[in-house]
Amino acid sequence: MKNVITLDIGGTNIRAALWSLQDNKMSIIKKTKEPTGPSPLEIIKNSISHLLEDCKGEISIVGISVAGIVDTQEGILLTSPNIPKLQGVNFRKVLRDDYGLQCIIENDGNAAAYGEKILGVGREFENFVMFTLGTGIGGGIIINGNLLSVTAEIGHISINSEGAQCPCGNIGCLETTASATAVISRAIAEIERGADSILKATYNGNFYKMNAEDIYRAALEGDTLSRTVLKDAGRNLGIGIANVVNIFSPQAVILTGGLIGAWNIYVEAAIKEASRRALKELINRVKIVPSQLKDDAGLTGIAYIAAKI
Ligand SMILES: [Zn+2]
Repeated sequence: MKNVITLDIGGTNIRAALWSLQDNKMSIIKKTKEPTGPSPLEIIKNSISHLLEDCKGEISIVGISVAGIVDTQEGILLTSPNIPKLQGVNFRKVLRDDYGLQCIIENDGNAAAYGEKILGVGREFENFVMFTLGTGIGGGIIINGNLLSVTAEIGHISINSEGAQCPCGNIGCLETTASATAVISRAIAEIERGADSILKATYNGNFYKMNAEDIYRAALEGDTLSRTVLKDAGRNLGIGIANVVNIFSPQAVILTGGLIGAWNIYVEAAIKEASRRALKELINRVKIVPSQLKDDAGLTGIAYIAAKI
């Protein structure tokens, strides 16, 4: 039996899994999840060491899915606005020097799209674009059943010519207006400006600790500020979706990430905006659907890419 270790490294969490590969089928033996925190490389090494303890057979390869622009040939993370501490890390060298293991690396949005194509809702479509809506916004594109080997940095398409500063250096990127980070920052800024909201009382008044789920919960309780913030972010996401639909004319747009929990507010606003903006012939035939694999999409995609099955 062969084994594969995969990691999905994002701005908030680092997920890892040990897989067994038998008869061209992968199954998870063990999974871990740790906050990315201030020392992500240490967390990555600890996760790998932890999984190796439970590994009975040989490890054939380690697959790394990471948020940022990657050099797949050399195994280097070239740029990562949301995990700057990992920028420039040569994963192939780290895995070889520390563990004697081979490694492949892929952008996390691409890995998630591929995972969804292999085992998720993407099985129904030959052409789709995946949006990963988390700390930042990533993407992956499947054309004619195959992963398009491009950066697909959908989060960094410009939405607002005068918008907020993005960690990538540009202003007004999609992720500055539609990501979980953007939703939280906007809610905090509005409260600081004196807006009334039940969020003020969260965490005993330390509302700076709020997360996107708190905002969604408040919205469901009728909190006007929370509803407005989610709807506005959704509208901006809709602009991004419209742009992508106009370029790729996909059969589907698949959405994943914590924010899609707020489907009836955030995503509904996005669908409305995308319908208003994209070319009618194209948007009318697009299905906008949630991911089936959710948090496991990236781990799954990179496992199948690594195992080449
Ligand atoms: Zn950007």
